[in-house]
Amino acid sequence: MEVYAFDAVIVGGGPAGTVTAAVLASLGHRVVLVERAYGTRGRLCGEFLSPDAVHALQQIGFWQAPAGMPHHRIERIRVVADATVVEVELDPPGWGIAREVLDERLLQFAQMQGAEVLFGWEVYAVEEDGDTRFRVHVRRRGRLVGMSLIARTVVGAFGRKSGYRDPTSRRPAPLPMPYIAFQQHVRSPSELWIAPTILQLTFVGEDYLGIAAVGNNRWNICGITRVETLRRYGKHISGLITAFTHQSNHISEMVHTLTLTDHWHVVTYPNFGLHGLHVRNVLMVGDAAATLPPFCGDGIAMAIHSGILAAESLDGYLRGRWTRVAGIDRYVHAWRAAFERRMRLALRLDQWLQRPWMRKVGFRLLQWAPRLLESILWATRGRTR
Ligand SMILES: Cc1cc2nc3c(=O)[nH]c(=O)nc-3n(C[C@H](O)[C@H](O)[C@H](O)COP(=O)(O)OP(=O)(O)OC[C@H]3O[C@@H](n4cnc5c(N)ncnc54)[C@H](O)[C@@H]3O)c2cc1C
Repeated sequence: MEVYAFDAVIVGGGPAGTVTAAVLASLGHRVVLVERAYGTRGRLCGEFLSPDAVHALQQIGFWQAPAGMPHHRIERIRVVADATVVEVELDPPGWGIAREVLDERLLQFAQMQGAEVLFGWEVYAVEEDGDTRFRVHVRRRGRLVGMSLIARTVVGAFGRKSGYRDPTSRRPAPLPMPYIAFQQHVRSPSELWIAPTILQLTFVGEDYLGIAAVGNNRWNICGITRVETLRRYGKHISGLITAFTHQSNHISEMVHTLTLTDHWHVVTYPNFGLHGLHVRNVLMVGDAAATLPPFCGDGIAMAIHSGILAAESLDGYLRGRWTRVAGIDRYVHAWRAAFERRMRLALRLDQWLQRPWMRKVGFRLLQWAPRLLESILWATRGRTR
């Protein structure tokens, strides 16, 4: 069993982990990022990079790296519900970008800053080894080959569902997950049914569907439904989409111009809210810390910001400017100041969207006062101007 020494081990190579690794490495720390997948791959996501996320990536110098990165500028958001259509301008604009592209470029960026990356390795346990260091146990995925990494700090950036075993805690019984999220990329014919600069969110009954151009003539279609609704359509997402077309002209137009297949990427709907900003002196970032309901907030923006905040707190500790406990406190305060209100509003908005009558009243109100949608967007997604 080999042993290496690092200033920080980052568990997970999504936006939260790569940004934490990039910022810490750029500040001169020895960082290793452990990602259990073999290379970057797509992830179920609406693939809308909000203006707030674009701005945060500009601040850490990311945009110098990704020349020729396929994406699409998103300049407007359109919300469609029953007969109501409300549209607002996004100024500054956001981006539609495929996750396999974004995540790969972020990993390359972290490596350019000096972070080491271990692909195909999974963290399966983290132990505190005295007051000043951790022992992180990793193994080759699917094999028994393992090693321990010794590090002064560890950051959990493992996303919303998975993680590593904490030998001292009991896992809570899994909650029932009544919702399913689904997504696929489709190519569009040259005759476009919707301008590629528009992100469209369509609400049908209790379900919603988001559509965004992600560059290279590809579109992302991503939606959420109830498990029992999907059962009604023989567990086929395409059957569900066809049923949507009878209820919404906007979806009907889309289905007639795009070739949908039944190769959908499907996951159960996760539990939302705050999961914990630190666990046994390990800082949690991105979805591992807290999960926003999709369409009510932007998880990628929160992942990027929390990575930057964690790196800044750990930098002070690693340089001896403050203690480990003070570093954790700083992170918790900074996270709460940035996201507590946003998270509360997003959860309330999600509850509101799930109640058909409240949704109806709300959308009527939006039709009367479209600027209200702008205020909701900025309140739940952060203001960058
Ligand atoms: C339906 C849906 C639509 C969404 N749409 C949008 C959107 O349009 N815009 C937006 O901003 N957000 C959206 N989100 C949210 C967004 O996808 C997440 O907030 C974001 O991916 C969080 O990034 P992360 O880095 O925290 O986690 P992840 O992106 O999940 O990355 C975690 C990484 O950790 C790795 N990992 C896990 N466990 C281990 C381990 N033990 N050892 C090593 N590696 C490990 C995983 O392989 C993974 O690569 C959506 C979410 C859903 C469910």
